[in-house]
Amino acid sequence: MIVGIDDTDSKEGMCTTYLAAVLLGRLSGYAKVRGQPMLVRLNPNIEFKTRGNAAIALPLEADDEAAVKDTVIKTVEEMAVFSDDNTNPGIVFLDDSCTGRERAGLLGFAMRAVQDVLEISDAEQLIGQYGIDARGYKNSRGLIGALAAASFRKYGLSDSTYELIAYRMQDACGTPRDIDLQSVREADALTYPDTWDTLDIRNSRVVFAPHTPDPVLFGIRGKSPDAVRRMFSMIRSEPVERSVLYETNQGTDMHLLRAGIGDVRENRSYLLCGTVYDRPVTSTGGHVFFSIVENGRILKCASFEPTKQLRDVVRELKPGDRISVYGSLKNSILNLEKIELKGLVEFDVQNPLCCGRRMKSKGAGQGFRCEKCGAKKREKERVPLMRKLESGLYEAPPCARRHLAKPLVRMAGRVHPSR
Ligand code: ATP
Repeated sequence: MIVGIDDTDSKEGMCTTYLAAVLLGRLSGYAKVRGQPMLVRLNPNIEFKTRGNAAIALPLEADDEAAVKDTVIKTVEEMAVFSDDNTNPGIVFLDDSCTGRERAGLLGFAMRAVQDVLEISDAEQLIGQYGIDARGYKNSRGLIGALAAASFRKYGLSDSTYELIAYRMQDACGTPRDIDLQSVREADALTYPDTWDTLDIRNSRVVFAPHTPDPVLFGIRGKSPDAVRRMFSMIRSEPVERSVLYETNQGTDMHLLRAGIGDVRENRSYLLCGTVYDRPVTSTGGHVFFSIVENGRILKCASFEPTKQLRDVVRELKPGDRISVYGSLKNSILNLEKIELKGLVEFDVQNPLCCGRRMKSKGAGQGFRCEKCGAKKREKERVPLMRKLESGLYEAPPCARRHLAKPLVRMAGRVHPSR
């Protein structure tokens, strides 16, 4: 049986992954975990999300399935923050039976939960159609994430990474986290790039531990169970109450849709190709804006202040550069997560040079004249540009990385990982 759970937490505390960790403890007497618990990140642009739009799926084997369901339901009812208006828990129990149709229906739904915006009725309709045992509380919105996570656990992810989440002792929650920074530095140096997003060295930030009052002490992200366990064994910190190793779609770019600029929609994320249309402009607050064009359609893009040194790359763009942009569309602006420089313009076209100055235009189509010596020329000239950029992929630094964004250490080709 696979148990999917979502939408149990609030901004004031709790976390659906912690509920799942406690549940695993409670179930350990009479259910076996068969395979890896899964942490699924859904569309990062959903307005109802509390933090990272996470949902959980637990693959379980038990003789007494009714007892398992009873424990799951009781634990959600006991731990979910029902008092928060925005908390609408959902639980889904998927059994082992599988028809080709169900597989296509559930995987299609799960992909849409990552890439698209769904209605609660979309989940309810599939639950009814396939006769799935489920519980929805309040407006039941959590059924969306619960069904998506359970579906990915049942049928598998096409690409995945791992995160080991360590949880705090209950009486420590709300106090500053006690983690030995030197041990984190050493563990990071020894395990990177098999682990990533532990530290943001350039921006002097510890990124694997939250600053919120929730029970998470830290989360170690990496490419394999061995890699994250290895790092875990090296970190010295306050006592850990429990830990869970999750398989996850984090760091896979699963949220990105391929599309033309003319087809983009709000609150979805894209990988788009285009040509830089205008010179980047830095606004107050340090956000950098520019536009790209493709087939006559123009799209505004932004590298916002939190993306730090990614802005240095963006500021060097020139009209005519061929690029790809990766990110989410919010308020008609593509928020950059990554950028690929594919073809950089190497020449600028300027008025001809004469007597140490640029010649003056004599009017449209009438050529140019030197104001000093009177010489005339018909055509503009190509001036070589000194570009400070190398082609290839650039990314937002770890301190600004979205859970789903694939870090460049996981990508092949010409990459410029941020660290
Ligand atoms: P945390 O990361 O702390 O567990 P959260 O950020 O996951 O919290 P939730 O409290 O789970 O946020 O709220 C997200 C809500 O949005 C859930 O009810 C989930 O079912 C729903 N949801 C997730 N993806 C989509 C989607 N693509 N379309 C519509 N609703 C979605």
